[in-house]
Amino acid sequence: MVLLTTIASREIKKKYKQLSKRYHPDKNPGDKEAEQKFVQLAEAYEVLSDDEKRDIYDKYGEEGLKQRSQGGSGFHNPFDIFASFFGTGHFGHHQQSERQGPSITMEIEVELKELYLGAQVEVDVSKQIICEQCGGSGAKNSDDVTTCNVCGGRGVKVVKQQLGPGIFQQFHSTCETCGGKGKIVKSKCPVCQGKKVRRGNEQLTIIIDKGQVDGGTIVFEKEGDESPDTIPGDIIFKVKTIPNPKFERKGDDLYAKQTISLIDALTGFEKNMTHLDGRNVLLKRDKVTQPEFVQIINNEGMPQLRSKSKGDLYVQYTVVFPTVIDDHTKQVLKDLFEKPDTRNIHEKDEL
Ligand SMILES: [Zn+2]
Ligand SMILES: [Zn+2]
Repeated sequence: MVLLTTIASREIKKKYKQLSKRYHPDKNPGDKEAEQKFVQLAEAYEVLSDDEKRDIYDKYGEEGLKQRSQGGSGFHNPFDIFASFFGTGHFGHHQQSERQGPSITMEIEVELKELYLGAQVEVDVSKQIICEQCGGSGAKNSDDVTTCNVCGGRGVKVVKQQLGPGIFQQFHSTCETCGGKGKIVKSKCPVCQGKKVRRGNEQLTIIIDKGQVDGGTIVFEKEGDESPDTIPGDIIFKVKTIPNPKFERKGDDLYAKQTISLIDALTGFEKNMTHLDGRNVLLKRDKVTQPEFVQIINNEGMPQLRSKSKGDLYVQYTVVFPTVIDDHTKQVLKDLFEKPDTRNIHEKDEL
């Protein structure tokens, strides 16, 4: 039973959502057939979405599940049920040979904090979806679709043209009766007007990994525009970092600026810097700090993607000088700094 295990549960969930909407009793009041289909679908979905039941089905087939469901109210192969709603080949190995639609790339703006901590972002994606009402047939009822009897369902017809006496040319032309589709729809689906598809929305949850890089991509396979007879392309989200007012990221390292007073610069200080996660990082110096001096704090940078290590934090200091100094202070400072043993304080103590 390799077949079933190859069906992505995500895809089943999506199909179930579409189909159950279509056969929902609220939508089909008094329609016994729709009601029965709705129940069958729910049963099939239960098996396919339940890991334990699916496991039994994969190992032992229908018999295995029949034994478990007491009374055995006519169990059907869940795969067959889904397939029967779509015609053959919609699930399973036939898929491989189907055409795949184009992929869509979208930018997603993410705060630096979200890249630091990791995040879940809900997005509402507008895309083309298969009409739930007709299931992509474009017809009002499933009986309304018939094979074109002019071309026999091939969509093309052979035309013979006489070019001269006894000379014929034979060529293929698109069947006008069915417009090359091979099928005739007697009455159109009222929801999509026979277009088979409509604009719709899909809610996607994007997982932003810790340390995700700017320009990094998150791929949702087969979540692109839906269209009958093709596999949807992928939706690719490309991460774009919203600039942070305090921290700048360069690779795995973070860069920040900190202002200190002249007194702090000369005598040392202890300050807290609030990090992206709200934690306080201690900035501590007991030496003279030159203007624009850069202090490196190890392991306080960005986390590395899918790794336990972190980059470093580079803090650059801006020294704020007093704007005015009175005469008395001037004299005190002169007396102090012009003494031979203290005037070269800067050179003595670089870091
Ligand atoms: Zn429709
Ligand atoms: Zn035709």
